[in-house]
Order: sequence, then structure tokens, then C-alpha cells
Amino acid sequence: IRQPVIVVAKDLFPSDTVKMDPKYIKGIITEEGGVTSHVSIMAKNYGIPVLTGVSGILDQVEDGLTICMDAKCGTIVVEPEQAVLEAYERLSEEEAIEQENIKKYRALEPVTPQGKRISLCINVGNTEEMKLALDKNVDGVGLFRTEFLYMENSHFPTEEEQFAVYKEAATLCPKEVTIRTLDIGGDKSLPYYEFEPEENPFLGWRAIRISLDMPEMFETQLRAILRASVFGHIRIMFPMLISVEELLEAKQIVAKCKNKLRQEGIPFDEGIEIGMMMETPASVLLAEEFAKEADFFSIGTNDLTQYILAVDRGNKKIASRYDSFHPAVWKAIETIIQAGHKYKCKVGMCGELAGDVAAIPKLLELGLDEFSMSAGTVDYARRAIIGKVI
Ligand code: PEP
Ligand code: MG
Repeated sequence: IRQPVIVVAKDLFPSDTVKMDPKYIKGIITEEGGVTSHVSIMAKNYGIPVLTGVSGILDQVEDGLTICMDAKCGTIVVEPEQAVLEAYERLSEEEAIEQENIKKYRALEPVTPQGKRISLCINVGNTEEMKLALDKNVDGVGLFRTEFLYMENSHFPTEEEQFAVYKEAATLCPKEVTIRTLDIGGDKSLPYYEFEPEENPFLGWRAIRISLDMPEMFETQLRAILRASVFGHIRIMFPMLISVEELLEAKQIVAKCKNKLRQEGIPFDEGIEIGMMMETPASVLLAEEFAKEADFFSIGTNDLTQYILAVDRGNKKIASRYDSFHPAVWKAIETIIQAGHKYKCKVGMCGELAGDVAAIPKLLELGLDEFSMSAGTVDYARRAIIGKVI
């Protein structure tokens, strides 16, 4: 793609979106997918409007047509009349003004009306996204999704290749950079590795399960992260844990990597924090046990919602049932925050709910310490945390 377009597709996988140059993508419309599918998240990171679950759109469009879309209202007009086109252009201008206005909040600290200083962070998939967000005055990266580094490659990235990326991330952002170890599987595949087809990929071989089953690959990543940790403030985070034994095993592998580095005389941050995503029902039920072992929690509401409610996050047929405001999800969030605080384990959230201004007041009330989100929503979240209009 070498000119500005709206991309219309049946579905887009993370491996498709990583190949697109975001500066030419003015919008994305897919027939499949949901609001927390990875295409939506990627698009949000770049500020690209996206509409998913639009049944039948491919029958109504063809290459070269003009399309107007409004991702806030969920409207699409194919081949609009002049007056409609002008109305959408006005909307677009108004949105640009609103985006300019909201920038004035950037100078303010994210402190609640009760005086609590909140940590406000961004989620990124690569260092390019970090560079785009450098002017947003955030407290760091609450989620670095390292799977994109693996997906954009033609081979498992080597220790040196990974080290270069994590070092760049740590240097770009001297504040916290939370690096999540490989979260592949589910809807994320690798072009150079054949995954056996699975009946239920989201319940299958993914994330920490793969890392623990492929220790060499896991150690390569951990060594790269540890080596980069002397260049800034890096934290390690594991995805998709369901048992304390998994956390202990993963921590043991980190300890082994640290030992080897010590023997080789390679420096790393001895006090590097190790935390975990809270995104499975098992992790909620065992939150207190996990809190004794983890330095921090980050609630992954995208997966937590799908697993608590047994509703696939990418299935458009049940998209209306995928509801992060469901009381069961909020009960889980409350349980996690209370368990974390009981054992002095800081609790953040890096699922999409963290950037939802409708959720922020309640999350603050529950005591959430850190909010991490797509860069495009940070300014709005800051305003919601401060709780007043300036
Ligand atoms: C989550 O599940 O909420 C999350 C942040 O991770 P991902 O969206 O990458 O699965
Ligand atoms: Mg997840």
C-alpha cells in the first residue's frame, strides 16, 4: 500500500497488520473480529479508526470506491453524495480540533481528586510506537507486546536481535518499560513455525505454555531482556499464567539466566521486578497466592473477559456478549486489586478497559495503581483521572 486508503478485509491478523505502513492507512473495516481483537488494538496504537464485525461489507465495495467511515458512531457510507462527503469532512476536522484541545492535559500529573498519583503508561508492539508517543508525558510502558518482534521476523529472533530492540526501548524511555515475554498462539502465529492446528486455539498452546515447553527459546528472550535491563528500568512480565507453579518455574529460569550472565561477567539489573498478567480465571481465584510471589500484577481484561464469560474475543456473532463491564469481570478485577494490595504487590491494568473513560472512575475507586493503554487514548484517560475540565 503506497497511497492513503481505507482497508476493507474479511479479517486481518496481526501478521497482516504488521506489514502495513500505518501512515497510508486511514481506516480499517473488517467483516470479522471484535473490539479487542489484535487488529483493533494495533490500529488504536497508531490512531487509525477501525470498525470490526461489519458483515457483508465486502459484497458492497470494490477497489477504488470512496468510503466514509466514523469509528465513533459505527457508520460507513459507500460512494457518498457530495453533501454527505462534506459532512464527514467536517466531522474529521472537528475531531482534529478535539485532539488538539485534549493535548493541553499532557502537562498535568495524573493525580486523582483525592490526591493519589496514578501511573499512566502506554501499550506498544514495537519501538516505533514508543517514538510516536514520546511527547505524551507518560510514566512508561506498561505493556511491551514482544510477539510482534517474533511475528515480523523470518526466524526466531536471536539474543542479539532482541537485545538491540529491548535496549532501544529502555533507552528511549528511562522510566518503566514492562516487557511481556512471548505471547504467541491464539490468533497470533509465526510465519516460520508450524503450529499444529488446534480445535480451541485460545484454550490451547499459547503464551507461557509455549515458553515453558521451549526453554531454549525462552532463555534466549530472558537473556536479552536481562542484558538490556542495565540501560533503563525494565520489568519482566509473564502472560497467561494459571498456576503458581508456572510462575515459580518461569522465575527459576530467570534465576538460571541471571546466574549464567554473572558467570560470563555480563551486567544486568539484579533487582529487576518480575510480574504477571492477570488474565485467566485461575489467576483470579489464586490471586493471593500469586501476589506473594509476584512483584506486580497487570490485569489483562481482553483475555480475562473472554475467559470469565466464555466468550471468544474475536467472534463477531457473540460480540455483543463480549462485555468487559459484566459484573463478573468487575468482581474479578476487585478480587485481584484487593489480593495484590494485601501482599504489597502493585496492581495495574493493560487490557483495553484501562483506557475506557467510562471505566476509569470505578477503577480508581477500586484502587488500581497503574493504567496502561493504547497511546491514542492516553490524553483522554489523563483527563478522566484528574477528574476536572481545564
Ligand atoms: C489482555 O489480554 O488484556 C492483554 C493486554 O493482552 P493481549 O491483548 O495481548 O492478549
Ligand atoms: Mg492477553
